[in-house]
Amino acid sequence: MARKVNILMIYTGGTIGMVKDYASGTLKAFDFDELIESIPEINQLDCNLEGISFETPIDSSNMNPKYWVEIASIVEENYNRFDGFVVLHGSDTMSYSGSALSFMLENLSKPVIFTGSQLPIGDLRTDAKENLITSIQIASLMKSGKSVIQEVCLYFEYKLYRANRTTKISAEHFEAFASPNYPPLAESGVHLKVDEQYLWKKPKKQHQLMVHKEMDCNVGVLKLFPGLGEPFLNAVLNTPNLKALILETYGAGNAPLDDWFLKALKERVDSGQHIINVTQCTGGGVAMGQYETSAKLQKIGLINGKDLTTEAAVTKTMYLLGSGISNKIFKSVFETSLRGEIH
Ligand code: ASP
Repeated sequence: MARKVNILMIYTGGTIGMVKDYASGTLKAFDFDELIESIPEINQLDCNLEGISFETPIDSSNMNPKYWVEIASIVEENYNRFDGFVVLHGSDTMSYSGSALSFMLENLSKPVIFTGSQLPIGDLRTDAKENLITSIQIASLMKSGKSVIQEVCLYFEYKLYRANRTTKISAEHFEAFASPNYPPLAESGVHLKVDEQYLWKKPKKQHQLMVHKEMDCNVGVLKLFPGLGEPFLNAVLNTPNLKALILETYGAGNAPLDDWFLKALKERVDSGQHIINVTQCTGGGVAMGQYETSAKLQKIGLINGKDLTTEAAVTKTMYLLGSGISNKIFKSVFETSLRGEIH
């Protein structure tokens, strides 16, 4: 008889585990044991479940790289004892955290599934139960003694996505996430269907898990808009210690042709700052050179963010800066797929 799989739930906070504080009318986190008690169905699952919680569960708007290191360390310390990990996390910054962890955990051969909910677990119409139960089932999937999913994913409202391809698209609908540039890895209907062709395949050689904990936050994001002024651009580019800027451009990676604009970018690139071109469109990507308005950016030496989400661009930049790779190879490494995040 096949042995039961061991799943570790990592509770960081988020709406999923919140209750209404009737005095103030706001939602506040409650503790992990109470959360589990609200889902008796969990005991029917065919796996051994254990849980570990942040000392103080947080609203994910308070998320930061220190907490990412905490999640990565929990996975690292428990990696040999468990077959899969389910991270309960607020939906607001879940795509950032899922993207960050995908870079921090290199050579994963086990699933790390982020999930959460739009309504608290205690709410009658909650989406939390399905999200949590199916995430645990997906994390438990095994084939020939190996985990079916071997990457960092995000499960929400019947769909499993590669986490570093997701973005939060709704503060209202249960379908809160989308993965505009990569298909779902699995869907939960009457059957749980995994689309194996889209799963991340590790490089052939079997490497050990490597956990990277240095995330360099000297990163900025600037979204272009018609009317963006020179003083504002210069203030951003001259931010003390800024090492990289994610520039959210228009359409297929286009930006204005004004001399002052291009000159300011060129100066910063020449002085060693990395400027990454990602599109502010939800779907599709940057095709530098397709229009005159992007050919100039290419010439200046901007990095091609292709079809990266902003969330993946920010966290990939923090990870690569933290890894200490040289400025010389930064551009070519950035433009390469490391965890299936980019085309
Ligand atoms: N504010 C909450 C959080 O991100 C929202 C949620 O969990 O859906 O923690």
